[in-house]
Amino acid sequence: RGPSDKLEFQAETRKLLDIVARSLYSEKEVFIRELISNSSDALEKLRYKQLGEESMEDVDLPLEIHIAGDESNKTFTIQDTGLGMTKDEMIQSLGTIAHSGSKAFLDSVNKDGNDTGKNIIGQFGVGFYSSFMVGHKVDVYSKSYIPGSKAYKWTSDGTGTYELSEAEGVQRGTKIVVHLKGESHEFCIESYIKDVITKYSNFVGVPIFLNGKKVNIVQALWTLDPKEVTEEMHEEFYRFIANVSDRPRYSLHYKTDAPLNIRSLFYIPQYKPTLFDMSRETDMSVQLYSRKVMILSKSNMILPKWLRFMKGVVDSEDIPLNLSRELLQDSGLIRKLNHVLTNKIIKFLHEQAKKDPLKYYSFYEDYGLFFREGIMTTHDQDTREGIARLLRFESSKLPPGERTSIEDYASRMKAGTRNIFYLSAPSREIAEGSPYLEALRKKDAEVLFLYEPYDELVLMNLGQFDKKNLKSIENEILDEQEDNNNVDEADDKSLKQEDADVLMNWLKTTLLNRVNKVKLTRKLSSHPCVITVQEMGSARHFLRTTFADKS
Ligand code: ADP
Ligand code: MG
Repeated sequence: RGPSDKLEFQAETRKLLDIVARSLYSEKEVFIRELISNSSDALEKLRYKQLGEESMEDVDLPLEIHIAGDESNKTFTIQDTGLGMTKDEMIQSLGTIAHSGSKAFLDSVNKDGNDTGKNIIGQFGVGFYSSFMVGHKVDVYSKSYIPGSKAYKWTSDGTGTYELSEAEGVQRGTKIVVHLKGESHEFCIESYIKDVITKYSNFVGVPIFLNGKKVNIVQALWTLDPKEVTEEMHEEFYRFIANVSDRPRYSLHYKTDAPLNIRSLFYIPQYKPTLFDMSRETDMSVQLYSRKVMILSKSNMILPKWLRFMKGVVDSEDIPLNLSRELLQDSGLIRKLNHVLTNKIIKFLHEQAKKDPLKYYSFYEDYGLFFREGIMTTHDQDTREGIARLLRFESSKLPPGERTSIEDYASRMKAGTRNIFYLSAPSREIAEGSPYLEALRKKDAEVLFLYEPYDELVLMNLGQFDKKNLKSIENEILDEQEDNNNVDEADDKSLKQEDADVLMNWLKTTLLNRVNKVKLTRKLSSHPCVITVQEMGSARHFLRTTFADKS
């Protein structure tokens, strides 16, 4: 045995350890999740190196995690065959806080001005140091994969200092022995450990053995044949991926080899989107893999932001493993992946709408807002029209409560007509009573009713659908009046031309600066007048709130 070095923890680490040691009983179990995730990271990194065909220590060791509970010695042990640590790496990684979760935790403790922080540790995942929640002493044995590396033992009681010495008989990877405190003895009991592993680490991509028996489900579901995946498997996987306890309302298992290799699984939750889901600040919940090696856990590039309600996994062999985060951002490959997946998801939802309209409609009521955002934030017109096919509206030709798609509307249009009409109104009743609608009814044209102010903005922004114009009927009336001044079909109830002229003159002088034009129309029969605005869409929301305030 070589000499042993005694080293001091960085001040921040000492503070963290101090808080960790006083953590609440209910949070202690997460130390198992943290240690497994470190082992799994170390194994994934090693797999990377293997793909790069680097030479390494103990090249034939299987990639596994072994956990053992020893009831007589009151220890919890975890060992992996990952890439291990050199002496310097042990000093760096286990003696200082580089890790963002621990940093965020300390920051929040400092900000709140209390140094207890005990009851929020679980949310942050303080990593390796969480082993001191349950251990009065922790030993770490590690040997780096780098050929010729020596093995080291790191040991500490989690107070001010730790010791480092050379170690014998250590294989590649890391072994951590936690000597359990009196009040944490349950963590050496097999059944207890097993429950915690299945709770947090079910789908870890490497086999986990507990006292020699395999405990986790390793299957990377997305690589299987979709026919082999049962609904239960989807449910379990979804709960893991989305970290929730409900069920998916839709599951999409999509595999293709052209135009690029994709193995993907997407889920839409049963629950209604929360405010957190709605926020554009929220990270995407789709993980990016290449050949089962995780590249990014929250990939913000492989789907557009408006699809942030999708949970899932995308694996593509075409993505080089060494692609850095910066490269990912403007890689043509990622753009292509994004485009293919977006259109696949749109198509999938379209098919679901056809297959089970009621189920689709209930989804649409919960998640439809994302489609509006999608149209407003997408540049490609084909994709925009694809999203627009997912929208549903009531219409003047359908009974209340029934909805149509723009596509179905278009299929009902008379040959030779080019306009898809819509009318924005707060309710069906008001829409039906609208003078604008009255004017258009004579032409027997169908009109979509938009009850949300933003829908008018969305359709204006979309502009066209399948080469047809989306048109507000308010503007339509305006246009028609231009060439309708010579209509001469006045009935007895209409004003005589002279009386009409007098009224018009009075209106013009009275409204002088407040209107653009005053015109005579013979299109209305039960309303005396109609007000039109050139660009109503952008004005309406403002108008409605202004009027609502005044009344
Ligand atoms: P994080 O995992 O977020 O980086 P941790 O505190 O959990 O933070 O771990 C700190 C660092 O210690 C890791 O980044 C890694 O470099 C190193 N480490 C911890 N456990 C292992 C392990 N089992 N094998 C190799 N390195 C490890
Ligand atoms: Mg960690």
